[in-house]
Amino acid sequence: MTATIIDGKEFAARVRVKVGDHVTRLKNDHGITPGLAVVLVGEDPASQVYVRSKGKMTVEVGMKSVEHKLDINTAEADLLALIGQLNNDPEIHGILVQLPLPKHLNEDLVINSISPAKDVDGFHISNVGLLGTGQKSMVPCTPLGCLMMLRDHHGSLSGMNAVVIGRSNIVGKPMAQLLLGDSCTVTIAHSRTKDLADVVRRADIVVAAVGRPEMVPGDWIKPGATVIDVGINRIERDGKKKLVGDADYESCAAVAGAITPVPGGVGPMTIACLLANTVTACCRAHGFDEPEGLTA
Ligand code: NDP
Repeated sequence: MTATIIDGKEFAARVRVKVGDHVTRLKNDHGITPGLAVVLVGEDPASQVYVRSKGKMTVEVGMKSVEHKLDINTAEADLLALIGQLNNDPEIHGILVQLPLPKHLNEDLVINSISPAKDVDGFHISNVGLLGTGQKSMVPCTPLGCLMMLRDHHGSLSGMNAVVIGRSNIVGKPMAQLLLGDSCTVTIAHSRTKDLADVVRRADIVVAAVGRPEMVPGDWIKPGATVIDVGINRIERDGKKKLVGDADYESCAAVAGAITPVPGGVGPMTIACLLANTVTACCRAHGFDEPEGLTA
């Protein structure tokens, strides 16, 4: 079997078009422009790249983009004061604090100071609780992107066996909650899981979110299963720098029914879902219908 390649780049472009259409409607019908504020503390090069591309894509879909770049030594009280201002700013519907933060700042405290309604990363404890209890919440962008791709490929996920490898708060756990919400039978695997190969072999859906290059070989995959590869690993092979996922692409693609490549799979969906969450937050703030197909 040769797997269908789930093209995240193309899918993310479709999501951005949907977001852009909704932004246009909000502007034309109500005179409202959704606004996203991104806060970056320090000068971590990777974070700067992410923030730049988030800002660029926010503007491309017609939304307002605000960037706050703070000095690496910013005091916690000053960061919290800025978040307080953004919480109260009616033109800002989404707030994202770029992680990781410098060591002297308490990440949990900072994230939980964002208004849950504007928490477009979905990391606030209230949103975590809402998701866990099956209530309307802001959903973390990467797992939301994976869910959208799975729904698009399969239609209904009901009754499927899903294995999520990884139990982080930003990917593994919310991913498992979302799959459970779509009535999958969900197993969460992690570094202490015994006989991972056997666990993965039972899955119709495998979501790999570990951060270990090519750790899932094709002979762990049930024939026809769908592999969603969240991993982003930078390696050097034959003297060349390369990005690879957590799945061994060639051998998995030979057995799976469908697979997301790295790069060009889950990665592009993350920013697209950030934009989707911002437009959703704007609609909720004004009591309008939410855009269809852009939420969990
Ligand atoms: P974390 O490091 O927070 O979590 C990794 C998880 O993998 C942990 O739960 C850990 O288990 C588990 N794990 C580690 N080793 C093994 C093993 N040998 N077998 C089974 N499980 C194992 O990572 P993140 O969740 O933040 O990210 C995971 C990957 O996804 C990374 O490559 C990251 O770069 C990528 N990523 C990609 C995004 C995108 O936009 N595409 C967005 C976010 C992340 P334990 O808890 O027991 O330690």
